Amino acid sequence: MKQVFNYINGEILPSKSGNWLDIYDPSIGSVYAQATSSDKEDVVLAVQAATSAFPNWSNTSIQDRSRILNKIADLIEAKLDFLAEAESIDNGKPLILAKRVDIPRASSNFRFFAQAITQFASESHATIDAINYTLRQPLGVVAAISPWNLPLYLFTWKIAPAIAAGNTVIAKPSEVTPMTAFLLSEICIEAGLPKGVLNIVHGTGPNVGAELSKHKAIKAVSFTGSTKVGQEIAKVAAPMFKKLSLEMGGKNPNLIFADCEYDKMLKTTIASSFANQGQICLCGSRIYIERSIYDKFKTDFVAHTKNRKVGPPLEVSSKLGAVVSKVHYEKILNYIKIAKEEGGQILCGGNAVHPTGFENGWYIEPTIIEGLATDCRTNQEEIFGPVVTISPFDNDDQALALANSTAYGLSATIWTQNLTRAHRLSKDIHAGIVWINTWLNRDLRTPFGGQKQSGVGREGGFEVLRFFTEPKNICVSY
Ligand code: NAD
Repeated sequence: MKQVFNYINGEILPSKSGNWLDIYDPSIGSVYAQATSSDKEDVVLAVQAATSAFPNWSNTSIQDRSRILNKIADLIEAKLDFLAEAESIDNGKPLILAKRVDIPRASSNFRFFAQAITQFASESHATIDAINYTLRQPLGVVAAISPWNLPLYLFTWKIAPAIAAGNTVIAKPSEVTPMTAFLLSEICIEAGLPKGVLNIVHGTGPNVGAELSKHKAIKAVSFTGSTKVGQEIAKVAAPMFKKLSLEMGGKNPNLIFADCEYDKMLKTTIASSFANQGQICLCGSRIYIERSIYDKFKTDFVAHTKNRKVGPPLEVSSKLGAVVSKVHYEKILNYIKIAKEEGGQILCGGNAVHPTGFENGWYIEPTIIEGLATDCRTNQEEIFGPVVTISPFDNDDQALALANSTAYGLSATIWTQNLTRAHRLSKDIHAGIVWINTWLNRDLRTPFGGQKQSGVGREGGFEVLRFFTEPKNICVSY
């Protein structure tokens, strides 16, 4: 049985308690590995390591930090096949997706911030008798807490900028998908990252995440996960005046107008609905279509979706793999039941799938539902699975009202050739990210995050380097 260990002070080691957590392979629904289960004692050790490493690391030249980040990026790239297979087995996602998206992006995260830190500048403000300049200094020891849906991708999206900016980090991956975080520990050792700069502590949210959020020595918490856990963290960390970056849930709208480039829209909407089994925070789960093309869209969308094979993640023909865990599988199937009770008609999917030889895995058909009210649970709550609803609209104002009808505000997608309309709607939509005639087109320099219950703060580019540094104004009289 494979084992996942902590990485503290440059060493690979088990938790102090000696307890273990079972790790499941979602494609077969059984345990395939164990992860060390840490608690307060291990967090304390990691904080000590990160605190001791901070003076040296924060005084390491930008060139040296950048060189090590690039080395980590190189090693991730060199181990692409190995890491992609590990991610696919751990998470249930199609291998091809891990190979094309997750692992390349993990490498790009390090490469991007290796370069970004060399370009990060601060402001100066002159008056007739003085000059002010802003020093942006690393915060110290910071925590990064990440979810299971894009395990290495999102984990490195936090770690890379935090260490590039000169902080030392304690990172906690999801206990549901810890494998590639563990493999990253080995890569960091091979890359020569000084001990204590990054510490990876495995364990449950309450045992590790909550301990990190309340530890006095931790200056900032960068969290990605559910809105509920984001609230828990804020309750503890905000009164301690820690810096907080919270990237949380979503219920993203797609607005499809009759004048859109139809074939591109259809192909992209299938991806934005069902990629990674719909377990991407940016997936569009409420699809609103201008009434004049509603029937055509419905026929084509259903026909193409029915053709998407749900199957074992390592098989190249599988377009959808397994969902991540039994709990999540049951949650999604329960939402499909709720949708039916709310009066929704299932146009395709709606059932569990049991591929031959993988009967106990957690597979669900891509599911399209129509006929639901805007304010019903299915259209308001985050399902985070291969389930979307479709509904018609009659004009721009109605489309905007529908887009803004939930408590969330992460992303939105607009399909139209009318750019005036696209810009006007983009301005008024409650979302941190709006895509016009595209989806998941990511430039790492741009601000990333959500509004309302989807988030506080922004990641990406210089925004995240600002988050991971403390600005200090220094005023010098002439
Ligand atoms: P989750 O909130 O259950 O867990 C996320 C992380 O928080 C895990 O590492 C978990 O162990 C930890 N955690 C749990 N309880 C904690 C506590 N009390 N204190 C501190 N940490 C704790 O989320 P999940 O189920 O792993 O991931 C799915 C969610 O993540 C969805 O809601 C999805 O929308 C969201 N997500 C958001 C983004 C974004 O960028 N906005 C990206 C990906 C996923």
